[in-house]
Amino acid sequence: MDFQKLVELYEELEKISSGNSMREILADFLKRVPPEDVPIISYLTLGQIASPYEGIVMGMADKSVLKAIATAGGTDLSKVTKIMHETGDAGLTAEKVLQKKPQTLVPLGKVTIHELFEKLHKIASSTGTGSQDTKMNILASLLQKSTPAGAKYIIKITLGTLRMGVGDMTVLDALAIAFTSDKKNKELLEARYNICPDLGIIAQTLIKDGLKGIDKIDIHVGTPIKMMLAQRIEELEEVAKKMPGKVTVEAKYDGERIQAHKDKKGKITLFSRNLDTITDQFPDLVEYLEKQIDAKEFVLEGEVIAIDAQGKPLPFQTLMQRRRKYDIKEFREKIPVQLKVFDLLYLNGKSYLDVPYYQRSAQLEKIIQVGKHLSLTDRKITDDIEEMNEFFQKMLQSGYEGMIIKSRAEDSVYQAGTRGWNWIKWKKEYAKDLSDTFDLVIIGAYHGQGNRSGKYGAVLCASYNEKENLFETVCKVGTGLTDELLEELPKKLAKYKTDKKPARVVIKKEMEPNIWFEPKIVIEVLAAEITKSPYHTCATGLALRFPRFVHFRDDKKAEQATTSNEIEKMAKKK
Ligand code: AMP
Repeated sequence: MDFQKLVELYEELEKISSGNSMREILADFLKRVPPEDVPIISYLTLGQIASPYEGIVMGMADKSVLKAIATAGGTDLSKVTKIMHETGDAGLTAEKVLQKKPQTLVPLGKVTIHELFEKLHKIASSTGTGSQDTKMNILASLLQKSTPAGAKYIIKITLGTLRMGVGDMTVLDALAIAFTSDKKNKELLEARYNICPDLGIIAQTLIKDGLKGIDKIDIHVGTPIKMMLAQRIEELEEVAKKMPGKVTVEAKYDGERIQAHKDKKGKITLFSRNLDTITDQFPDLVEYLEKQIDAKEFVLEGEVIAIDAQGKPLPFQTLMQRRRKYDIKEFREKIPVQLKVFDLLYLNGKSYLDVPYYQRSAQLEKIIQVGKHLSLTDRKITDDIEEMNEFFQKMLQSGYEGMIIKSRAEDSVYQAGTRGWNWIKWKKEYAKDLSDTFDLVIIGAYHGQGNRSGKYGAVLCASYNEKENLFETVCKVGTGLTDELLEELPKKLAKYKTDKKPARVVIKKEMEPNIWFEPKIVIEVLAAEITKSPYHTCATGLALRFPRFVHFRDDKKAEQATTSNEIEKMAKKK
């Protein structure tokens, strides 16, 4: 097909801003062109000559582009440079220069899209000494054959500046409209595009084998798949609603997501979250994966973090120094890294995308040999919110960012390219973390149940209202009480037991404990947040969320406990 036809389409597309009209016009165009041209048109319309993950770069210096324009326009570089200064855009410069081309220079035939595509690939593949000249000559030969408008688009594609407002989703829509009976089929195209993010392959498969062919597209080692993302929630308690039953909570590391592919020949490729190839940046990771993953072929995911000599995590900014083209060897030594592996997407010929997460992780655990630089994510299986919060606090103390909560349900498949409810992220910032402790007075206890029956299940704690000389309840603490502590507590509290509410205690009916104590024993409690509560009497009705026993404060008297006033002030600061 003549490239000029595509140029006319692009000029039309540039005039409209409605996404709907764009996809209709594009679909209409695709229906009328030879089917074998559709994959190439799909790439070119996005200003590409291959899928971005292939990392193909044109590598043309600005000066070489201007030289090519000058050659094609039969003029000299200084004139082209002047127009470039006026317009500020190399594409427009090419158009203007070619419009002024001497009449004696007739166009040398026509450019077909195949020739354009092939020559642009040649420009990209020529490297080394003299390559700028080679690139310049190829580009000039293309411009010589094209119209002024054609030259504009060729330059824009070469420089990666084609911006018509057509994105990959518009092209998928147009393909669905043009080649299937229902535009709703875009959903299937998109789902497969998430697994095979290559519009050329999607277009070719659709045209050759129809929707049946599209449906068969599965993970392919060496082709990165779009990564699954996590949803966020406002309150940790929402987890129970979103993911009933047991979940896996995993540390959330502040590093870089890596998708590692190992093919049958043993070649390992690493992809970033944007699906760029970053293998060269991490030769150390490639070695660890070779040695510590027992599999012929795999696709797995993890988060890479920088670590210090003791294996402690270092900030994201430190890791970013490993994002470099030069001095890789030096920085490999300077900034060692660790890959925390969390998912398995493919193993020895089998796709794991539709396998529930608990099975994917069980399989992963079997093939990994854990070491300092390659290990599984820190994790815990639970259905208890308090335990989740405890894990979360532990991860924060270890220097991590928070946690990712992962569904273990039968439908917990890997949702490529989707921010679904199979993963939920919970970070420090959402938890409005106090990272502060409170010294509270024990004024009561509740009988334990289950494995705590016959012991205390939790103790009721109060803050001190110094103005009124009262003790006001603020939380129930059950978390952090070890078996040893559960033995120790009744002994320690025995002498303060009373059979009715101590006079200075202010309490709401709902919170009444099974056993009362005179306010004497002070404990240190770590809590995540201060909230308003209708059940507690601290200040204007405040409570601590996710309280956790830290230790006894035998050095403190009850009247030296954290005051209600202090808690109120802290709550106001938020
Ligand atoms: P966010 O970027 O805030 O949407 O959080 C999701 C990102 O957290 C993922 O893309 C990963 O790069 C990163 N991450 C860190 N630890 C984990 C983990 N255990 N599981 C999944 N993703 C993780």
